[in-house]
Amino acid sequence: MRKVEDYIRSIPDFPEPGIIFRDITTVMQDSDGFKLAIDSMEDTIKDLDFDVIAGLESRGFMFGTPIAYNMGKPFVPIRKKGKLPCETISEEYSLEYGTAEIEIHTDAIKKGQKVVIVDDLIATGGTVEAAIKLIERLGGEVVACVFLTELVDLKGRDVLEGYRVESIVKFD
Ligand code: IMP
Repeated sequence: MRKVEDYIRSIPDFPEPGIIFRDITTVMQDSDGFKLAIDSMEDTIKDLDFDVIAGLESRGFMFGTPIAYNMGKPFVPIRKKGKLPCETISEEYSLEYGTAEIEIHTDAIKKGQKVVIVDDLIATGGTVEAAIKLIERLGGEVVACVFLTELVDLKGRDVLEGYRVESIVKFD
């Protein structure tokens, strides 16, 4: 039987020389791979008490929405700057070159709500760290961060010390 990692395609030198890009489109374009990925991610949080799934644009939406739907939870998008139409708060974070900014609607998380963050991949942890700040600024409590893939050598977990971190496939 195929494992989740068998469905992930690795693309050398994308988006720049020396980087191996882990492409999850090949997971989703196979119905068995898609189901296995969603079921595996869901399994890591099935016993958790939580209220909301927050997904990170854009691949976090692809995994976060089916998990939320299956588990009967609402879904909140955390988007790149300038995309959300209503009142937002934002957080800037560092990229290898320069910075990026993500936003959330101020009414998306209510004070005291327990939140699970979903994304396709954790590398340095910068993106999810910014997402945690947004959720906490709104009074939410992050109870887990769930990723399909973890690039272990980039030590994103160290940034998330004290938070529950789940990943299905680990690459060095
Ligand atoms: P971080 O902020 O360094 O943890 O990077 C994580 C973000 O970059 C996630 O939102 C990923 O979608 C994206 N990302 C970085 N590297 C890859 C990759 O190899 N495959 C897919 N997404 C990636």
